[in-house]
Amino acid sequence: MEEARRAAQAGAPVPDAEQLAARALGFLQATSPFAYPEVINATGVLIHTNLGRAPRLAPPLPPYLALEYDLEAGARGERLAPVTARLTRYFGAEAALVVTNNAAALVLLLATHAGGREVIVSRGELIEIGGSFRLPEIMAAAGARLKEIGCTNRTHLKDYEAAIGGDTAAILLAHRSNFHISGFTARPTLAQLVALGQRRGLPVWVDQGSGCHLDLRPFGLHPEPTVQELLAAGANAVLFSGDKLLGGPQAGILVGRAATIEALRRHPLRRALRPDKGALTALVATLDAYLAERPLEVPLYRLLATPEGELRRRARRLARRLAAAGLAVRAVPCRAVVGGGTLPDQTLPSWGVELPGGDQKTAAALRRSTPPVVARIEDERVILDLRAVFPEQDRHLAEAAATALTTSR
Ligand SMILES: *Cc1c(COP(=O)(O)O)cnc(C)c1O
Repeated sequence: MEEARRAAQAGAPVPDAEQLAARALGFLQATSPFAYPEVINATGVLIHTNLGRAPRLAPPLPPYLALEYDLEAGARGERLAPVTARLTRYFGAEAALVVTNNAAALVLLLATHAGGREVIVSRGELIEIGGSFRLPEIMAAAGARLKEIGCTNRTHLKDYEAAIGGDTAAILLAHRSNFHISGFTARPTLAQLVALGQRRGLPVWVDQGSGCHLDLRPFGLHPEPTVQELLAAGANAVLFSGDKLLGGPQAGILVGRAATIEALRRHPLRRALRPDKGALTALVATLDAYLAERPLEVPLYRLLATPEGELRRRARRLARRLAAAGLAVRAVPCRAVVGGGTLPDQTLPSWGVELPGGDQKTAAALRRSTPPVVARIEDERVILDLRAVFPEQDRHLAEAAATALTTSR
């Protein structure tokens, strides 16, 4: 009101009630401390893009830090040095670089090494991630020409070989992050493609996406090729997200041969894709946990490692608490997924609580509770899946669910 009054005194038109209300709403949204409220993730999707992807280790940031400052020399330092030293050590790579996200990593790689030239990609790997990452469009935006080869289900070594011409810059493999093809399928191994690349003087790049970096079998999942294995098999560059299976902050990580990676540093786009200090410090903390062989310090792996029996025990306790509030609920076994564009064909055993009145109204009431709870709706049932709920959140979950359910009845 005050702002409108002052503006009107200065000669601006007087807003009507509707305009005032809209402005007030905008003001409240912009100043609310809960602009990104904490939520309890009861969806059973561990890497949930809408909920911030991987739950990350977040060391608190001091007001100032020696981010790109050499304390010995008292002069400007190298911003990425602490993180690239850890990346090369952990992944066994010659060189590493970090940008804002994996899409940016791909753009930078293509713009540096394939501008105006052809990059060969199998038709079975032309992926779309989350609607806004579409491989053909990213390639066009980076100024590279897509040379599509093979068929959706089958692409052979000879298809790659036949596509190589004088204008070919590289062979690109893209991970099928959010779908899988089964049945009558074929594709060459990375080793075969690397050998072909070596014969024809071409690099092989792998957009690995998920950042799978350790053996997933102890977590009850099928193994996936790790970044380390792809590098050992001769990939010239491997790129992936920081906030998928690495369990870190949003970042795009490139590891590979020194000549390939070092050239990226000199491209002017790199400055436009510089990661934030929060991401860099979180990445260092995450990599330190892996280098110390303590993956369970990373929240994602703590969730993955929770035994099914413990989830069952917690689900039963939650069900008892809600039953005590007069609600007809029951603990049920269910299946969770890793999500976020990783492991599309795999599920994890989990336990949850099935709520009465399995409809959108219950889910909406849960989202309005404090803290908000995002549940899963499955076969018209509302399920609170505990796989992505941290044990210390159980009490809040019980309270929020009890309030939401009693008020929505
Ligand atoms: C997730 C993913 C991307 C996009 O990564 P962002 O970090 O979200 O930019 C690109 N390629 C593949 C194969 C992916 O899985």
